[in-house]
Amino acid sequence: MDLYEHQARELFDEYGVSVPEAEVAGTSKEARLIAERFGGPVVVKAQVKTGGRGKAGGVKLAAGPEAAELTARQILGMDIKGHTVRQVMLARPVDIAEEYYVSYVLDRATGGFLAIASAAGGMDIEEVAAERPEAVARVPVDPDRGVTAAEASRIAAAAGLPAEVGPVLERLWAVLVKEDAVLVEVNPLVRTTDGSVVALDGKVTLDDNARFRQSRWGEGDTVRDSELERTAAAKGLNYVKLDGRVGVIGNGAGLVMSTLDVVAGCGARPANFLDIGGGASAQVMADGLSVILSDPGVESVFVNVFGGITACDAVAEGIVQALGAVRLTKPLVVRLDGNSATRGREILEAAGHPLVEQVPTMDGAARRAAELALTG
Ligand code: GDP
Ligand code: MN
Repeated sequence: MDLYEHQARELFDEYGVSVPEAEVAGTSKEARLIAERFGGPVVVKAQVKTGGRGKAGGVKLAAGPEAAELTARQILGMDIKGHTVRQVMLARPVDIAEEYYVSYVLDRATGGFLAIASAAGGMDIEEVAAERPEAVARVPVDPDRGVTAAEASRIAAAAGLPAEVGPVLERLWAVLVKEDAVLVEVNPLVRTTDGSVVALDGKVTLDDNARFRQSRWGEGDTVRDSELERTAAAKGLNYVKLDGRVGVIGNGAGLVMSTLDVVAGCGARPANFLDIGGGASAQVMADGLSVILSDPGVESVFVNVFGGITACDAVAEGIVQALGAVRLTKPLVVRLDGNSATRGREILEAAGHPLVEQVPTMDGAARRAAELALTG
């Protein structure tokens, strides 16, 4: 479960990481009152569980209480990548001298953690990593030893960050361990003009497996930010909203994850993650399709099924029945492979739906779905 920025900020503060003074408001009136208490300018920040708020117009400087109220009115209710802004955080502005990037991420490949740090903070770290990989330091962290003072200095030095960042890295590690997080990211961590180091933004992802001992943030993600995710959750679907144009449905989380990668590799962006699991229920397929088709960003849908215990003919019948229940408004590309694929393909072919195309390979089908999304 992801925490909101204001929750991450609260944790950082508790662990001795400097953060700007800030308060949360749910209405523009409240925003005004907070700004009055602060006196002077404030930064108004959308509280949504997605990055890139700045670029989307969800982070704005307001000169005083009146401007804060107006800005909050603009930002509240805004849609940022499918997330509706219900709260804003008002923060006392900080004078930035330098912006850094620091994070700890779980590295499932090694069963350890990775410290990622860069002196080029404030911007999209994936972009920096792609364009200037040498500007991003990646230092493995042994979870048993953790981030000691010596380790913290090593990470800071590897990224070319000043020594003052060391203690902050130690405290952020403590947040990760004690709060059962699998990700702690600060972008930007800034050095202010008066020389202190302040976390200006924060993303913390808690380990859902540890939820039983981390009751503080409530029953987890019962509060969903995306309407589509809410609808999907109500239907019992394993759905996560993403920002692209290719709707994705697959059976098995691993297959769906790799489908997202393959779609991205074809130059399009997936619109969602949806794992319909084993079984071939027409109801689940219909529910999945209807959620995906109500995403306004979707231009094509890619159904990627590898028949295992559930054979492809049963899945194909499920798809045909679902198409009787849901009006298909976008092209559907289906790839059936594995157990009884031939029979499954025949069933779909016989149904002869004008918007359904079959492509036998995963790569080919992803390419076709991407192409349809880009021209759609
Ligand atoms: P994000 O776009 O969702 O990552 O939101 P951030 O909280 O990182 O804010 C985006 C950008 O706004 C930061 O990278 C900063 O450059 C800028 N910003 C945020 N707060 C302040 C502040 O107090 N002072 C200044 N000068 N810039 C700020
Ligand atoms: Mn940020």
